[in-house]
Amino acid sequence: MISLPTHKTKIVCTVGPASRSSAVLTGMMRKGMSIARLNFSHGTFEEHERDISEIRAAAASLQRPCPLFVDLPGPKIRVGALENEAVLLKKGDAVTITTLDIRGTRSIIPVTYTRLPESVSPGSIIYLSDGFIELRVEDVTGNEVRCVVVVGGQLLKGKGLNLPGAKMLVPSLTERDFELMEFALKMGIGIFGISFVESAEDILRAKEFAGSRGKSIYTIAKIERTEAVENIDSILGVTDALMIARGDLGVEVPIEEVPALQKELIRKANLCCRPVITATQMLESMVDNNRPTRAEATDVANAILDGTDAVMLSEETAIGNFPVETVEMMAKISRNIEGKRRSIRSTSFLQNLLREELHKGKITVPDTISLNTSEASDVLDAPFILVPTSQGMTARRISRFRPESWILAVNEDQRICDFAFFSYGVYPVIMDASGDEWSGDFVEYLKDSGLVRTGERIIVTEGKYSKEAGTDSLGVITV
Ligand code: PEP
Repeated sequence: MISLPTHKTKIVCTVGPASRSSAVLTGMMRKGMSIARLNFSHGTFEEHERDISEIRAAAASLQRPCPLFVDLPGPKIRVGALENEAVLLKKGDAVTITTLDIRGTRSIIPVTYTRLPESVSPGSIIYLSDGFIELRVEDVTGNEVRCVVVVGGQLLKGKGLNLPGAKMLVPSLTERDFELMEFALKMGIGIFGISFVESAEDILRAKEFAGSRGKSIYTIAKIERTEAVENIDSILGVTDALMIARGDLGVEVPIEEVPALQKELIRKANLCCRPVITATQMLESMVDNNRPTRAEATDVANAILDGTDAVMLSEETAIGNFPVETVEMMAKISRNIEGKRRSIRSTSFLQNLLREELHKGKITVPDTISLNTSEASDVLDAPFILVPTSQGMTARRISRFRPESWILAVNEDQRICDFAFFSYGVYPVIMDASGDEWSGDFVEYLKDSGLVRTGERIIVTEGKYSKEAGTDSLGVITV
């Protein structure tokens, strides 16, 4: 059954205490949730298992796709236990950060990163609590880093610690990540967010680990460290998708650089057909309120105009008071801006870039067909592009150009279809498209379901003339 959403941007919802019930999950799916994210930084194996089955059951009951991915925590540094609920750090205070497992006070604070003294030196900046508290390192001895408070604030246990520009002496995939991955693979999860990626090696290690367990996975490289920004081209060469993890990114790099970085990362991901998720604080004020701020609504729309495939909700749906309303709001903003994309801003820069490449003889046959398919669908006002696809790549290639039509990615494999759904405007159809009859039969089905009318055009792509070239032709069906 095809149940098309009203928006083509994918909405990723983090599932947590506020949304793990069947009623809230189905509510969010009805309002436009496309993809579920399980943040394995929190929760127990039992909770994860329950969440996975609830999400699958809710999607099955509504007969609509809702792939889910597991976000691995990576080597996030956190503040350890504190004697009291919180400590107040005041500007000018002396405070020691220790790697010892003690209960912290306002003068000594434990952290989970045992090699901290090796990563910093006098003059280094340490951020606590999402960057709200700033410390400057004065001295390093043994297990202790002595600091002075530059910007004070209230610190709670478990809050994050960031060391902008410092060399991290722990791998991006920790023992805990592998343990969590092992569990998730057993639960049939095939898509993983990899946190604090520094280089392509980190992605390859995740894929190798899954391979050693007889599984093939899709990876979402979370871009939140300076090293990842520097190594973005090689990371894009091996990862299947990107996440612009603006939470940590906005502390690791100067916050004023985040807007330009977002645009640059999206452009690069679009060019090489990697779906990209823009994440964090998109509708943050809806954790407590039933409406977002004007700035948040504009942020979501701007990310879509930048070319993001997906927008993500974190605390809004995990612990917020209005999870269903937040998804509904995000869907409304997406739908509205998508309808105005053409008039507000040209989407032709990718087309132009490819045409320039075409003249240099660098463009591939599938690239040429995807460009022509997108243009043909717009010119003929086709509601659908039918894409039989072996790995989902042709659908992703076409999606880059953001055609007005829905791209129906046809494959028999649930795994391929799940990941194809991450790309803008792609809707998966689990079906065998190998025989000669399938497209005719499928068009009949679309007609019987009221999804197309007599006289409308449907574009079909095909690998017809040479096996090596992949998708090498496009056809037009008049219904
Ligand atoms: C982020 O830092 O923006 C992010 C999405 O990662 P996490 O939620 O794991 O901190």
